[in-house]
Amino acid sequence: MSARKLKEETEFFYAYLRQNGLKKTYQKDLILETFLNTEGHLSVEDIYALIKKRDRKVGVVTVFRTLKSLVACGIAREITLGDGLTRFEHHYRHPFHHHIICTECHRIIEFVCPELERIQGEILRKYNFQPVDHQFQSYGLCEDCRERRTPVKRPQHDTDKIFARDAVRMALEVAAHFLEFYRSAERRNQDPEGKRVWACMAEEEERQIAGLIDRLDEIIRQEKDLESAPVFLHLEPRRLESLLPDLADYERDGEFRMDARASLSLAQTLGRASAEFFRAFAEQFGDTQGKRIMLAFAGWEESHVDAVRQALEQNRGGPGKAEAGRQ
Ligand SMILES: [Zn+2]
Ligand SMILES: [Zn+2]
Ligand SMILES: [Zn+2]
Repeated sequence: MSARKLKEETEFFYAYLRQNGLKKTYQKDLILETFLNTEGHLSVEDIYALIKKRDRKVGVVTVFRTLKSLVACGIAREITLGDGLTRFEHHYRHPFHHHIICTECHRIIEFVCPELERIQGEILRKYNFQPVDHQFQSYGLCEDCRERRTPVKRPQHDTDKIFARDAVRMALEVAAHFLEFYRSAERRNQDPEGKRVWACMAEEEERQIAGLIDRLDEIIRQEKDLESAPVFLHLEPRRLESLLPDLADYERDGEFRMDARASLSLAQTLGRASAEFFRAFAEQFGDTQGKRIMLAFAGWEESHVDAVRQALEQNRGGPGKAEAGRQ
C-alpha cells in the first residue's frame, strides 16, 4: 500500500472516530495499517496473528472492535465464505465483487459482473425490496483439485488493481474493434476525401491504443503476477459488438461511397455511442481506478472526432499533413 493511500484512509478513519466520539489510539492505527497492508479475505484470527507479531499487548477484542469500526466507516467489508468465519476485505475505493470458492483447497476467485447485478436488482424489485447489501457465492472444485494436482499457491490480488487492469483491457478491446472498422471503411470508401477521414480516425485510434498499452504496462508493473491473474470484470461480448454498425448497410449498388462530411458525421455518432456506453457502464461502479479509466476513455472517444475534424479543416492535405496541422 502506498504511503499516500494509507494516509488517505487513515484520515478517513479518524474522521469517523471524531464523528462518533471515539478515541484515536496507537492500537487502532496498528490494526488499520496491518489490515490495509494485507490482501485477501482475513478472519479476526488471521489479523490478530499478524498484530501479535508486532505488538503482543494488543488483545483480540480490540482487534475485533476495530475491524467492526472499519466496516462501519466503509474501509472494510465483512463477508462470509461458507466456512462459518467472519472475514474482512478492503472496501474503500475497491470494486464491489463476488466470490467463487474451491471447496477442496479454498482457493478464491473474485469477479464483478454488471449483468448479474442488474438481474439481482430486477428480482429484488419484483419482491418490492429495497436493496441493502448482497453477496453472491459459488462453490466448486478448481482445476488443480479436479486433476488432483497440488494446488499452486497463488497470490491474492488487490481488487482495485485487478479491476483497473480489466478496465484497460476492455477499453483496448473496444479500441481494437473501432480501429478495424475505421481501417475497413478507409479501404472500401470510394470517395477520396471520405477515405482520408477514416484514415485520420484510424490514426487517432492507434495513438489511443498505444496510450492504453502503456497504461496497462504501468498497472501490471505495480504488482507481481497481476498479468496472469484470472479475469475479474465480466462483460457480455454482444454489448461491445453492438456499438458498431455493418458497413454493408451504407453500401449502394454494392459500392461504399461516403464523402468527408457524411464520414465525419458517422464517426461522430459512433464516438458518442461508445462514450455513452462507457459512461453508463462506469456509473455502475463505485469510485475506483477502473471507473476513472472508463470515464477517461469515454471522454476521449467523444473528443476523437473533433480532433480529426479540426485537423482536416486546418490542413486539407493527407492524414500526414493533417497531423502536422494539429501542432
Ligand atoms: Zn481447489
Ligand atoms: Zn473479495
Ligand atoms: Zn486492496
